[in-house]
Amino acid sequence: MPLELPDYFVDILHKKFLEAIEVDSLKFTESVTEDIQDGDLTYRVRIAPSLGLKPVQTAAPPFASSDTTSKAKFDPFANPESSLFLCPLGVNEYYTILNKFSIIPHHFLLITKSFESQNAPLSEEDLEATWACLQPTIDRGMRTLAFYNCGEASGASQSHRHVQFIPVPEQFKLLPDIALSYGVQPSKNAIGVFPTYHPGASFAHYVLPIPPNPTADDLIMRFATLLARALTVLRTHEQSPISFNFAMTKEWMFIAPRRQELYEGVSVNTTGMVGLMLAKSHEQLDLIKRLGPSKILANVGLPKAEGDEQHHDY
Ligand code: AMP
Repeated sequence: MPLELPDYFVDILHKKFLEAIEVDSLKFTESVTEDIQDGDLTYRVRIAPSLGLKPVQTAAPPFASSDTTSKAKFDPFANPESSLFLCPLGVNEYYTILNKFSIIPHHFLLITKSFESQNAPLSEEDLEATWACLQPTIDRGMRTLAFYNCGEASGASQSHRHVQFIPVPEQFKLLPDIALSYGVQPSKNAIGVFPTYHPGASFAHYVLPIPPNPTADDLIMRFATLLARALTVLRTHEQSPISFNFAMTKEWMFIAPRRQELYEGVSVNTTGMVGLMLAKSHEQLDLIKRLGPSKILANVGLPKAEGDEQHHDY
């Protein structure tokens, strides 16, 4: 993998995080979490009133012939604030910056240096850069989760391409961790295994393991396989333009096609689809408990495809 973050990345991340709060360019809000059991799945809900303060911007239609609509809007990633800037990645391709509206310490973003659309799938270079950002342990003892909210129904608020990184709570098992613990079925496809899923989840999603020390080909082949599955589900349900949630750790990749951003006013992005939901208030937490996370995710995601495994050897 040619792309690598500098060795001192974690030091800069921690130092700049504190400095940016100090000068008030990073708005960090304390939050509390509560676990909700729904069926055999545990969801961790973070209650953060500051979520209501985050700028709202609707992403432009995917694969628009011209992205002038999204470019015309204010793009916070066109000239990242110096107090939030971490380091470049690749010769001319990417920057890493701190999330300005943070509820999780050391939440950072990988952004393309020049404008690329958030409504298109990740490229091979994006995946290599994402992999590079997953290598450092950004918080002691915690794994890192990368996530990409793609398309207007995915929970994205910015249309300039960005992949986000947060530490995964210690001991907490994300949906793809559990899905993979059931094992994978061998396949004649290019990867050698079928994408798997959690049978107890209420929405279509697919997971593939990543081998140790993957090549760029290993990453793009897995992403393309998952994307093909997600596109099949979107097409089956006549969902256009396309939206999906994509997540990645050093162990796996995950994808879930989306139909809408909100259900009963609860906004869900990729973190919610893997088990880490967000609530804007205690009232919204009560609503999530009343409805049940599985029902919310079923309504923002799409139904699982019947007999999918038999029909598609990709
Ligand atoms: P999303 O809402 O998934 O599109 O993610 C956009 C992310 O960018 C959120 O985590 C925002 O808090 C963050 N964000 C918004 N404006 C800025 C900014 N000016 N600098 C850094 N991060 C920002």
